[in-house]
Amino acid sequence: MQVWEGGGSGSIRFDAAKAKLMGLGSTRAEGSNGEGKERKKLGTMAENSTLQAALFQCMTSLQAQGLLEVLCPVQVEAIAFDTSGTDPTGPARVTWAGKDGVRSQLTTRLLVGADGAASRVKKARGLPSWGWDYAQRAVVATVSLDEQADAADAPSPRPSTTLSANKSSHSNSSPATAWQTFLPQGPLALLPLWGPYHSIVWSTTPAEADRLKALPREAFLAELNAKLQCPIGLLDPPSFPSYVPQPLVKALVGAHHLVESVVVSAALNQGFHVAPLVRDVCGPRLSFDLRAEHASAYVGARAALVGDAAHTIHPMAGQGLNLGLADAMALSTLIEAGVVEGQDVGSPLFLRRYQNARQAANLGMLGGLTALHGLFGRKEGSWRWLRNVGLGTLNALDPVKAKMAEVAMGVNSGGGRQRV
Ligand SMILES: Cc1cc2nc3c(=O)[nH]c(=O)nc-3n(C[C@H](O)[C@H](O)[C@H](O)COP(=O)(O)OP(=O)(O)OC[C@H]3O[C@@H](n4cnc5c(N)ncnc54)[C@H](O)[C@@H]3O)c2cc1C
Repeated sequence: MQVWEGGGSGSIRFDAAKAKLMGLGSTRAEGSNGEGKERKKLGTMAENSTLQAALFQCMTSLQAQGLLEVLCPVQVEAIAFDTSGTDPTGPARVTWAGKDGVRSQLTTRLLVGADGAASRVKKARGLPSWGWDYAQRAVVATVSLDEQADAADAPSPRPSTTLSANKSSHSNSSPATAWQTFLPQGPLALLPLWGPYHSIVWSTTPAEADRLKALPREAFLAELNAKLQCPIGLLDPPSFPSYVPQPLVKALVGAHHLVESVVVSAALNQGFHVAPLVRDVCGPRLSFDLRAEHASAYVGARAALVGDAAHTIHPMAGQGLNLGLADAMALSTLIEAGVVEGQDVGSPLFLRRYQNARQAANLGMLGGLTALHGLFGRKEGSWRWLRNVGLGTLNALDPVKAKMAEVAMGVNSGGGRQRV
């Protein structure tokens, strides 16, 4: 993965082979001759529909075993928590409508809200949350790269609903690279899917996002490539107020040039690559308003929140779903233990163990991304200088980079099957 500031001097490259030093990111892949091959990777890109198909397959198999009832597609229309009668924490009552519009109801001792940022479960349970708009809109599209001239022969770029179609670029002989450049209005990411196909997430101001979406295809491609191809270079020295003595200004400008030269040479040593050319946009350009939101409480009587229902973050680090999966893992581990111990798994006291396990990790990620967003949002020359020197310095520090990769990969994030 490579991250850099468009037109800046610093860049940082994460290499799966170096993560190997820390024993991370190893998978076994079957070669065409059936031999298992050890492969190093920093992460996996999976299309949403592929993940959903895998989950659905798993759920229908559990249903066939009589362990689960799948109600899909349905629309949840109302949620109420029964506080009448003798039990002040009575069951949750869910009213839902099927495709035919027929309404049904169910009651449960524990309702898990995995219903996204506008969670109905969160509202119905009265779980408070706080957050802010980033004043950014992300333009998202599937694109294909220039490097494969016979892309016309490739299968459709539309996400497939079968698991076997998840042919990520990792199956190619050369390792896939994820690219992200920080531009004055927000980050632009080019993320490998499979074959020549990549996904772009271009965060910018709402007005700029609307303009980009409306551009004719050729003009959009030209702007996209101009931003992605913008190489690193030397920064101008920062300007100093007139009251700073001239000899000091000269010394500081000299120091600036020295640091810049060291940073740029370090970046070259770490192999800064110019991003590949995007040849085509393969589908519609969609856009999403970006917002940070965090529930102060993830649990209440008979209810628990996971995923975006509990926390929404900026997509710049591609961590939103990862946090949600870690939540789901932590909650299911707790419920499993609670059932074995004969506990009331919907009681707020019991559920608080899940909240304690996950809230700190999720807030840590929100805080880190907020700091990063703030750092790259500053336009002043001194901030620009600071972050570019910072990027260049980090790039030369492999152990620090391996630690950063650990965090992004969710290693020791508290989401594993440990007791909570
Ligand atoms: C532009 C962009 C790019 C991103 N890129 C990445 C990335 O690269 N990596 C990553 O990890 N994360 C990424 N994310 C974040 C990721 O998309 C979210 O964190 C993730 O989708 C959250 O999953 P979720 O299941 O919690 O919520 P959602 O994906 O919002 O799913 C909620 C589900 O609940 C259903 N639902 C809601 N209300 C009802 C109702 N009343 N009745 C029935 N169903 C209902 C909805 O239909 C939906 O299917 C990105 C986000 C954005 C905006």
